Amino acid sequence: MNNRRQILIRNGLSITNNRLRILAKLKGANRPLSVGQIVGLFPEGELDRVTAYRTLRMFLDRGIVHRIEGDNGTWHYEMCKCPDIEHVLHPHFVCSECKKVMCLESTRVAFPYKEIRECNLSVEDVQVKFTGICGPCREKGPRVC
Ligand SMILES: [Zn+2]
Ligand SMILES: [Zn+2]
Ligand SMILES: [Zn+2]
Repeated sequence: MNNRRQILIRNGLSITNNRLRILAKLKGANRPLSVGQIVGLFPEGELDRVTAYRTLRMFLDRGIVHRIEGDNGTWHYEMCKCPDIEHVLHPHFVCSECKKVMCLESTRVAFPYKEIRECNLSVEDVQVKFTGICGPCREKGPRVC
C-alpha cells in the first residue's frame, strides 16, 4: 500500500483515481499550486475545475493540505508535511509579476497560544505573506509598456 492511499484511508476518505492523482501532483510540486495550475498538470479534459476544487476543499477540511493566499486572493494548496499532532506553518513569498508562490521554510510562524487560550479563539486560517518581485522576474528587468 503506498503512502497516498494511506493518507486517504487515515482521513476516512475513499480511494478514487482523481484523489490519488491530485495528491501525487501536490507531492511532486515544491511550491503551493492554485486550482488552475493543478488542472493544467493533467492532460486536457481529464480533470475539471469543480472536481479539483471539491477535492482540495475536502483535503483542507481534513488537514491534508494547507491553503495559501496568492496574488489577488487566489488560493494555493500545498501538502501538509507537519508532524502528527500540530501544524507547523511557514511564511510564503508571492511574486506580483509572475504570481508564483514560494515557500519560505527556514522560518516558522509561531502561534499566539497565550491569546488563543485566554480569549478562547479558534484559529481557522493563518497567512504570513511576503510580496514583491521574484529573482527570475527581477532579472528580466522592468516591464516596457
Ligand atoms: Zn500541517
Ligand atoms: Zn516572478
Ligand atoms: Zn509552503
